[in-house]
Amino acid sequence: MNKAVKDLIEISQYAGRRVDYTQGGGGNTSVKDGGVMYIKASGFRLKDIDENTAYVPMDLEKIRNFFDKVDLSDGKDHEAENKAVTAEATLKREGLAPLRPSVEVGFHSVLKKYVIHTHSVYANLLTCAVRGKELAEKIFAGADFDYIFMPYIDPGFTLSVKMKEAVSAYEKATGRYPEVIFMQNHGLVVSADTIERVKAVNEEVNIKIAAFFAIKDGVDAVCLKEEGEGKYLSQTPLIGKFVKENGLTKALLDEYPLYPDQLVYLNNVINFAPEKLVCDGESVRYNTNEKEATTLEETLFAYLFVISVLKKHGEEISTMSEKDVDFINNWEAEKYRRSLSK
Ligand SMILES: [Zn+2]
Repeated sequence: MNKAVKDLIEISQYAGRRVDYTQGGGGNTSVKDGGVMYIKASGFRLKDIDENTAYVPMDLEKIRNFFDKVDLSDGKDHEAENKAVTAEATLKREGLAPLRPSVEVGFHSVLKKYVIHTHSVYANLLTCAVRGKELAEKIFAGADFDYIFMPYIDPGFTLSVKMKEAVSAYEKATGRYPEVIFMQNHGLVVSADTIERVKAVNEEVNIKIAAFFAIKDGVDAVCLKEEGEGKYLSQTPLIGKFVKENGLTKALLDEYPLYPDQLVYLNNVINFAPEKLVCDGESVRYNTNEKEATTLEETLFAYLFVISVLKKHGEEISTMSEKDVDFINNWEAEKYRRSLSK
């Protein structure tokens, strides 16, 4: 097997097997090798990535060229242009099903050789807190890596452009490369030149935040019990505890839109197919297939984890604006991703 693909599988299994790092089809990874970038396919789970599954080889120069030359003031429809360039840069390989690359293909192309992007529940304690940036300064004082903290930016094209700008501005100002990027109300990106380094830095970031919030022994694994054909009962301790103390309502999810995956998976179900996720004030049940029930349970777990830890520590929660929420709800790329979760 090609070394880059082997490495992609390794970092994807590493980040994808932990529900505290990625939930459902969230998060993505990539490895660059010469002119090719291997990246997770949209809508798949990180742990699905295998020699012949769930990733896409891309022509790296084509994508980089686009982001080098794009002029934001020329009045063109850059989302459409980005989509066309992405399709054109997608390489076909024998034995590999033709898939769409992750919607974050743009920002992967402008970073180091190895990229791990997760929706880590620890990182999101910072990115979903009003004081997140301030807390990061305390937590990472003296760390052996550089980081930047980006404001909330619509995923896809705009995020790629802004990330490229933010990384070069930081390099220019400090002469150092920011291996770690926190994205407000979204997640964590770690990129490095070697596979050992990308994993080590990713671990360090998560461990330091967990220690700061006094979270011991990692978090409970997500657990579902099958109660009959297409019927699942949530058994994840954190979800049960939260629901008994606070209930779980549509109003809560609408009041605290934390990040895009909550909207793509949870709010969409609660608002348009409420029979799929039912809460009686004691427990949560899912009336759908195992794949979708798992995605819902994992997304719900991560969401309630962030809300309950921040509330426990008296941190004010930062939410997405109405405009940010509308963009996600109307974005074609997210409708595609949502359709693959079923
Ligand atoms: Zn993401």
